[in-house]
Amino acid sequence: MASQEIGAEADVENGRCALCGDPSPPAEPVWPGLVRCPVCGLLYTHPRPTPAAMPRYYESDYYSYQFHGVRPRSHRLKIALWRALGMLPPRPRSSRPPALARWARALLTSQHGVAATWTLAAPCAEARFLDVGCGAGERLELARDLGWETWGVDLGEAAVRDAARRGHRTAVASAEALPFGDAIFDYLNLSHVLEHLYEPLEALRECSRLLRPEGVVQITVPNCAGWGARRYGPHWRAWDLPRHLYHFTVATLTALAERAGLRVAVTRTLTDEWVLQESRRAAGEKVHGSLRPTYASRLRARRGDGENLDVWCMPQTE
Ligand SMILES: [Zn+2]
Repeated sequence: MASQEIGAEADVENGRCALCGDPSPPAEPVWPGLVRCPVCGLLYTHPRPTPAAMPRYYESDYYSYQFHGVRPRSHRLKIALWRALGMLPPRPRSSRPPALARWARALLTSQHGVAATWTLAAPCAEARFLDVGCGAGERLELARDLGWETWGVDLGEAAVRDAARRGHRTAVASAEALPFGDAIFDYLNLSHVLEHLYEPLEALRECSRLLRPEGVVQITVPNCAGWGARRYGPHWRAWDLPRHLYHFTVATLTALAERAGLRVAVTRTLTDEWVLQESRRAAGEKVHGSLRPTYASRLRARRGDGENLDVWCMPQTE
């Protein structure tokens, strides 16, 4: 399994189901380090490092803490082109529009692959974008070019400083306790965050609390029911034990979101060629060089069998 060995016994604790707590009957083993809740079906890591021991499993060069050289100039050109071609809403105006129509359009274009998630334009001036797990602020750079007021939190202090230096509003905070008032954000992004958390339900409750009534939270996590997980079993790279504590399917992620007061509006899956390559390597198969998604991977993602789940939620209305 693509994992690191867990260290001394004092640094280890029992995993638990984020939906049921400690289920009885006891969890069913899937393979070493991974169990399934017999009540709700959620897969989780067991045993797992204690929160105090976990930082040891994140080296300082953990990829999300590095700035990968986004080129704001080329962003801006691309965005101008998209706008000219009618792929983006017009420049946001100062008043808050009936947001649903705009969001529906944004959701639709991303659904059909006309525009990537990354091209999501701000629905109005001063629309607030919060990236939970912002790293050095790569996503925030593009969001700002698209008209958003950009906010970011992360646990990595150096990365947060980096993002703040680029002019984004930042805080060092965990996703389970976000230092903001109620109902102030239009869009929240949790990209590859939820699977790392000890309290994913608390994090989604925080999202539900922070969202404006018309706001959207986009959650991206590995899809442990996808083709790669089935094909490569324990060699699937995105199990990433012990850093990933929870492993979601559409059903278990939807259950968690609903428990947190959210309503799932859109579900799709995305391909991840890097995960597939690393899984092949771990399984001792031949690996081809390119990280460009193959036609087969794109097709699988479209039919809901991709390596990542991408779920868009809105607050539940009474
Ligand atoms: Zn459960």
